[in-house]
Amino acid sequence: MKIPFIDIKRIETGFMKDWLLRVSEISEQAAFISGDTVRDMERQLADFVQVKNVISCGNGTDALQLALRASGVGPGDKVLLPDMTFWATFEAIVNVGAAPVTVDIDPNDGGIDLESFRLAIKTEKPKVALIAHLYGWGTGDLDLLRTYCKEESVILVEDGAQCFGSEWQSEPIYKGAHISTTSFYPAKVLGAAGDGGAIFTQDDNLAEKVRCLANHGRSSHYGYKDVGWNSRMDALQCAYVTLALQKLEMRIASRLDSATYYRKNLSHAGVTVLDVPAGYKENGYCNVLTVEDPDLKIKIEDRLKECGISFGNIYPGSMSSQPPAKTFSAGHYGGHEADAFASKVLNLPLFPYMTTAELDYIIDIMNKV
Ligand SMILES: *Cc1c(COP(=O)(O)O)cnc(C)c1O
Repeated sequence: MKIPFIDIKRIETGFMKDWLLRVSEISEQAAFISGDTVRDMERQLADFVQVKNVISCGNGTDALQLALRASGVGPGDKVLLPDMTFWATFEAIVNVGAAPVTVDIDPNDGGIDLESFRLAIKTEKPKVALIAHLYGWGTGDLDLLRTYCKEESVILVEDGAQCFGSEWQSEPIYKGAHISTTSFYPAKVLGAAGDGGAIFTQDDNLAEKVRCLANHGRSSHYGYKDVGWNSRMDALQCAYVTLALQKLEMRIASRLDSATYYRKNLSHAGVTVLDVPAGYKENGYCNVLTVEDPDLKIKIEDRLKECGISFGNIYPGSMSSQPPAKTFSAGHYGGHEADAFASKVLNLPLFPYMTTAELDYIIDIMNKV
């Protein structure tokens, strides 16, 4: 048996037919940019995430850049970010002309370390800080981080590219954020048929700035009040995401069944499945296993390869350990738990509609290494 790390070809019966129908409708109308399809998707997303303003854009990296620019970040600013995230979080800060300051993580849940974060805020006094909800859940300290930023008048931008459908305190995680972002890259929990992204905010003023920046800073068709860029999500992508949104609950339920199955049946003494912090309902984006013994980790990985099982390491290294950090980083707070964590992490296949036979095959191999 060969098992991919993720198989996004597994979709519901009828989904492809609905999608092809939308492709022909949109093509016949040549309504490729903006218009009803885009607005409908934004409205449906807003209902789902319970956030007043949803602005679609070109991709998840642009979503971060738009959120930063709208929050007033530019040259001369420092922006905090967790040392463990996807590189786009670091990149977005540099691309808007600001300087990234990394903050170590708490290895218990992979989120930013609260004490180091507070120290960094006190010392650097940034306008904006970024955090990332990486594993289909956020840090257990989410309320403390949000409250602290409010008290210190720091805008907290939440990179939510991996947490669509996740809940915090029984509400969509994006709902309580000042401003958060997502990506519709096809392999995300809510993916498009190509690239796309969105910004969520309850703040009308920020929302208006984001929408303006994503549309060249326009005030009228040929009038401008800012310098933005073109960051559009086209109608075809929006149509796909709208259809996928209708299936999301089913897809997440299936992911969670598999996640639970792994938790229940993986019984290797040297392998720990990271727990979801209290207060969250995860979206089943990935499972996070940690293997303390490096030799055992290599043995497991070799065996998985022999048996045709793909696996991942989300993520294999910290931001501060990447070579460009030497040029662009403007500081680091805390220790280097991020790198220690990265070296231990192993992710097994987890995607909608995995079969019990596949899960049993993987679990059996894992438990026997
Ligand atoms: C995928 C991802 C992004 C970037 O999204 P793109 O749509 O690929 O630009 C940003 N942050 C995190 C945490 C991600 O996982």
